[in-house]
Order: sequence, then structure tokens, then C-alpha cells
Amino acid sequence: MAIQIHPAVDGGVKPGVANFAGGTLVCKCTSSPVTVSIKGDAAFNHVCGCSKCWKPEGSTFSQIAVTGRDNVNVTANGQKLKVVDQNAAIQRHACTGCGVHMYGRIENKDHPFFGFDFFHTELSKENGWAAPEFAAFVSSIIESGYPPAQMGAVRARLKELHLEPYDCLSPPLMDLIATHTAKAKGVLAA
Ligand SMILES: [Zn+2]
Ligand SMILES: [Zn+2]
Repeated sequence: MAIQIHPAVDGGVKPGVANFAGGTLVCKCTSSPVTVSIKGDAAFNHVCGCSKCWKPEGSTFSQIAVTGRDNVNVTANGQKLKVVDQNAAIQRHACTGCGVHMYGRIENKDHPFFGFDFFHTELSKENGWAAPEFAAFVSSIIESGYPPAQMGAVRARLKELHLEPYDCLSPPLMDLIATHTAKAKGVLAA
């Protein structure tokens, strides 16, 4: 059985286009879809194994990227959006019609990723978004019921796709979080 990661990468990771201008995310509703415009390219695009990110039906991983919150604009049917979990660090704004998460926003100004919004590039028809670069929270797929005995095969497939598997975030993002914590504690100059 071939190991499935996510429909966008199972056939090979498609490279992005330089200076990509962005695009419009559209939810899965057949009438009155929610649309969200994203200005500019995605950053830190990756596949994620956590149980909180939205993923397409049957997919093992989600695919999720980052942009500045000022680049995100709800352009139609925003009244259908509702925050999935008000207590979560990332407030995932989901369509109440189809369940798709249109964007995730951090409202806590002390959070290391405050200022970043999270979104799924696959919701846009435009091609050329920055390609996924790594796999985050790989071990967490077990929490959604993935067989633990298959994890070796999953990590091997991720490496074959050049999506380095991590059981947390990638080293640059973990360093960013730790730097933020160190500055907050005063052990590093702000
Ligand atoms: Zn919808
Ligand atoms: Zn996730």
C-alpha cells in the first residue's frame, strides 16, 4: 500500500513560482462560498500532522502556510465564518457551511507568532504558491488513529518527498519560539 501524505504532494512536491502575487482562497460550499484574498506568497509552507489543522477528507496530513495578518482579507460571505475554538492559541476561522478553515489568527500579542496568519494554499485555484518545505508534528497523526507501526514508512516517504519530518515544528520555527521566550524572560536582549 502506497503511503498517502496529502493530495497536493502525493504526486511529488510542485515547486513554487518566484515573486508569486498571491491568490483567493475559496471554501467548499457550492453556493455563497466564503472567499479570502491573500496578498503575496506563502511562507513556511509545510504539511502538518496535528489534529487541529483542517485537512481534506481522507488526508493524513494538512498542508498549511503562513503570511502576515495584514495580507489576509475576507472578500465574500464572511458572515459564515466562526472561530472553531476560542481558547486555542490559533483562532481558526471555519466556514459553518462546509467546515473548511479559511484562516487561523493569533490574537494574543505575547504569542511568538503574533502577526502571522495561517492558511491552506490548496484552497486557491492559482498555481505557484511556495512549495511545502517540511513536515511538522509527524508523530501526532497517531492521535488521529494512524497505525503506529506505519510511522517508519511515513517518515521514509516524507524524506523521499524532501519534506524533512519533525515531531514539533522545523528548527527555524522552534528557534523563533525559543528566542521569543528568552527575550520575554530577559535572558536575551530584546
Ligand atoms: Zn463553506
Ligand atoms: Zn497542524
